[in-house]
Amino acid sequence: MNIIDIHVHPELEDQDYSLTEKMIGLAKRYGVKHICLLGDVLHFGYDPSEEQIRKINDQTIELVEKWSDFFFGFCFLNPKHPEEFMQQEAGRCFKNKNFKGIKLEVAVNARNKHVEKVMRIARNMNIVVLLHSWSTEIIDNREHQSDPEDIAYLASHFPDVKIIMAHVTSARERGVLAIKPFSNVWVDTSGGQPIAGTIEYAVEKLGSERILFGSDAPGRDFSAQLGKIYGSNISEYAKRSILGENARKLLGITDG
Ligand SMILES: [Zn+2]
Repeated sequence: MNIIDIHVHPELEDQDYSLTEKMIGLAKRYGVKHICLLGDVLHFGYDPSEEQIRKINDQTIELVEKWSDFFFGFCFLNPKHPEEFMQQEAGRCFKNKNFKGIKLEVAVNARNKHVEKVMRIARNMNIVVLLHSWSTEIIDNREHQSDPEDIAYLASHFPDVKIIMAHVTSARERGVLAIKPFSNVWVDTSGGQPIAGTIEYAVEKLGSERILFGSDAPGRDFSAQLGKIYGSNISEYAKRSILGENARKLLGITDG
C-alpha cells in the first residue's frame, strides 16, 4: 500500500533535521510513501504575525526542497493578514511544484469574513484549502475553533473551492452529516484516538472517496492513526482509497 499522509506538522526548533529524519524513518517503517507538511502552525500561538507566517513557511519550503521525493507542502496563512500579503506568500510557496494546498488553523472561525480573502486566492490559483475543525461541544471557543457546521457554511459560499475539513474523529457523526451535502468538502482522519465506528460511518455517509488519511504526527503516532483505517470494517477498495488514492487524485500527486 502506497500511503499518503496529508496531515503532518514539522517542528520549527528542528534546526539539525534530527526530528524530521526520525519522523521520516518512522513513516517509512509504516509504509508511508509521501507526507504533506502543513507547517508548525501553533508555534507562535493562535494569531501569528506576517513575519512568523514567513518563518513557518520558510521551514516547509526548505524541507520540501530537501526531501522533494517524500514531502509535499501546504502554505500556512493567517486570514487576518491583508490579501496582498497572503497572495505574495502563496506565490512564494507555490513556486515549488510540491506545494499542494493552503492550510488554515485557528486564527479565526471559518465563518469569519477574513476567510473569504483566502478562499478567493484559492479559487484564483485553483488550490485546495485544508481547515482545522474541532467540535466545540468538546472545546468551547467558537471564535477560533470551527465546528463542522462552520466548514459547511464556508463550503456553501465557495462551491468552486475544494476544502479539506481536518479531524473527522472530532467531527464524528454530526460533522459528517454537516458536510455531506457539499461535494467540494473532503475530510481527513487525523487527530484524536481511534473510536470504533467513526470511519465506517464516514464511508457509509460520504462514500470512501471523500476521506483522506492524515495522522497529525508528531503529535499523534502513525501506528494508532493507521490503525483507525486498517481496523475499520470497510472494503479493501475503501482502505486503499483513503490511504492514498484519494489524495493522489485530489492533490494531483502522480509519483507511485
Ligand atoms: Zn494538525
